[in-house]
Amino acid sequence: MTESLKLLFLSTSVGQLGSGLGGGVELTVLNIAQELHRRGHKIAVVAPVGSVLESIRVIEITGDLQVTAQTQDYNASIVMPADAVLANMWEYARKVEEEWDVIVNFAYDWLPFYLTPFFRTPIAHFISMGSLSRSLDRIAGQIAAKFPGTIGVYTVSQAETFAFADECQLLGSGIDLLLYEFCSQPEPKLAWLGRIAAEKGLEDAVAAAKITGIPLKIMGKMQDEDYWQKICADYPDAPVEYLGFMTTIQMQKQVRECRALLMTPRWVEAFGNVAIEALACGVPVISYERGGPAEIVRDGLTGFLVEPDSVNGLVSAIAQIDKIDRRACRSQAEVEYSLGALGDRFEHWFKSILNLS
Ligand code: UDP
Repeated sequence: MTESLKLLFLSTSVGQLGSGLGGGVELTVLNIAQELHRRGHKIAVVAPVGSVLESIRVIEITGDLQVTAQTQDYNASIVMPADAVLANMWEYARKVEEEWDVIVNFAYDWLPFYLTPFFRTPIAHFISMGSLSRSLDRIAGQIAAKFPGTIGVYTVSQAETFAFADECQLLGSGIDLLLYEFCSQPEPKLAWLGRIAAEKGLEDAVAAAKITGIPLKIMGKMQDEDYWQKICADYPDAPVEYLGFMTTIQMQKQVRECRALLMTPRWVEAFGNVAIEALACGVPVISYERGGPAEIVRDGLTGFLVEPDSVNGLVSAIAQIDKIDRRACRSQAEVEYSLGALGDRFEHWFKSILNLS
């Protein structure tokens, strides 16, 4: 390593790290922090009180959580609770900014972009979802123009939802492969992982399980109970089981025994961290050809990409799943989504912001 950087991460403000409310960005914060810490950089993570992050210093901040952008209308105004944890986190950052080389924003929210020109320390923004809010699109576009190179995203499809796509740095994602065990002999079951929320299209996976008769194991944060109850009412006899929100270790133990992971996003999924977690276990991914998963899955090699919103497409792909070599899945995860690869991309990004590379 050439130079040690001092990096202050500001986590998502819609949930505590470890709660699952933040979705895949929680795993992204953990993995980048751990990998850059391992490389000798100084890292601290500012996050809502109650956050847990293994082996990394967390500065816990009190206050009320932000509403999630995906539950708001595109034209909705920005909502700020009176005692907003987001505002409190940035008040903390303002007080200590001189101690850090780069401040890294992981919140999908307006305020951090708005505050950027008022800071002396450079701010890098990692955007974790596609376009969902007119206010965010506008302010992020202004920051992209004013501070070139400071906006990072997961994928091309995600970047293309923004008018400032060409200004985005593509950073992908990565995972600690040691936590995911390869399984060559799956059982006759399927997996679905993610927040239980309408944009994830869980009902299509349930419909496919019903048609094929193959049991579906569902794991993830219960974000929208009404949505889940409607699925249960619509498919009372589908062979599905909801196992709750699991830790990474528990989750991979369940997933690795499955014949495939089904991904059924209704929205332009920014990445789909669950895809690379399944691949790391040797589990092929069957996904709608939309957003991040379409850039991850190698059709016919590490899974199948099917016509978006087509349950029949899922069913046909499930019928062909034995054609996929599970070793090719693990191997793709090892080559493209290791922590080393992730660390290289982020380290390069921070250095370029500081004009060090
Ligand atoms: N996840 C988890 N436990 C579960 C199911 C999912 O920790 O039981 C995590 C998973 O590891 C992933 C995240 O939930 O990091 C979902 O992220 P993804 O990028 O797939 O979608 P997002 O929620 O960001 O839209």
